[in-house]
Amino acid sequence: MYCIGKLGRGDANDKNRFSYAYNCQIVMHIPTLMDILQTYVSHAGLVIVMQKIKRNTPALISGSIRNLFYAVLACVIFFTLPVRADKWVDLSHIFNDDTIYWPTSKGFEMKKTAEGKTEKGYYYSANDFASSEHGGTHLDAPLHFSETGYGVEQIPLSRLVGMGVVIDVSRRALKNRDYQITIKDITDWEQVYGRLPNNVILLFNTGYARFWPDREKYMGTTERGAAAVQKLHFPGLHPDAAAWLVKNRKIASIGLDTPSLDYGQSKQFETHQILAGAQIPGFENVTNLDALPPTGAMIVALPMKIGGGSGAPLRIIARVPSAGLRD
Ligand SMILES: [Zn+2]
Repeated sequence: MYCIGKLGRGDANDKNRFSYAYNCQIVMHIPTLMDILQTYVSHAGLVIVMQKIKRNTPALISGSIRNLFYAVLACVIFFTLPVRADKWVDLSHIFNDDTIYWPTSKGFEMKKTAEGKTEKGYYYSANDFASSEHGGTHLDAPLHFSETGYGVEQIPLSRLVGMGVVIDVSRRALKNRDYQITIKDITDWEQVYGRLPNNVILLFNTGYARFWPDREKYMGTTERGAAAVQKLHFPGLHPDAAAWLVKNRKIASIGLDTPSLDYGQSKQFETHQILAGAQIPGFENVTNLDALPPTGAMIVALPMKIGGGSGAPLRIIARVPSAGLRD
């Protein structure tokens, strides 16, 4: 008897998934085993482990024997690995007096309206706050650069929640604060991890989150006002790479750990225009991307639901399968 199953998800070129062939008399046990795997094990975590093993194993054996080897190995890992819970990683900066905003935007303001014990004897605290849309960790709605783009409240949730990948460009970006992420950065990543899956949340780690909240190091200037915009220096996504992604891949949304999708010296904000024109939201001033694996994290990026908003403060978090955590 012959049985083919699969674990993981994505399109046919997605290396996050592997298939196995099993050819023996106990084939009837396979559906049960798959149920257990998919119900109780960190699904994506096991896939990541298998992916690493497959990448590092020389092709000494081939065909169905090789697939059987991987299937048995997956079972051994499943039954012997110590159980570790998946972890949540916070990808948002705190909003407070230090929060970095675009030089022409008002910063975050918070005013206490109540604090302390009331006359009735209970403790009570409340504040008023005010904020520009585009500051701190925030979302750029397509409406930001496209007249027909979604406003914040219109963005489909499927563009805000889903599987994430992280492309690490920090080695080059930290050497050049005017670095623009290239098509090659993306295709090099795909050489190792496989084609970007459809509907993925694509995150770029430039390494600049480490400078937060030092404005000089993070964005090139501490000055504010219109004149300061000329002095901005930080990495972004090159318009050619944005256009390539829109044309050749199906991306749900794009985020990075700098103040803008376009690099600091951009004058026309072409990357914003291209992505907004394709209804792709952006996440800016994201942090902690170095705590995520290149593949396998589940991203939840929920902005304040501002009606007609061109952007909004964003709480973005990631669920990381235990096997994908960097120790
Ligand atoms: Zn923005």
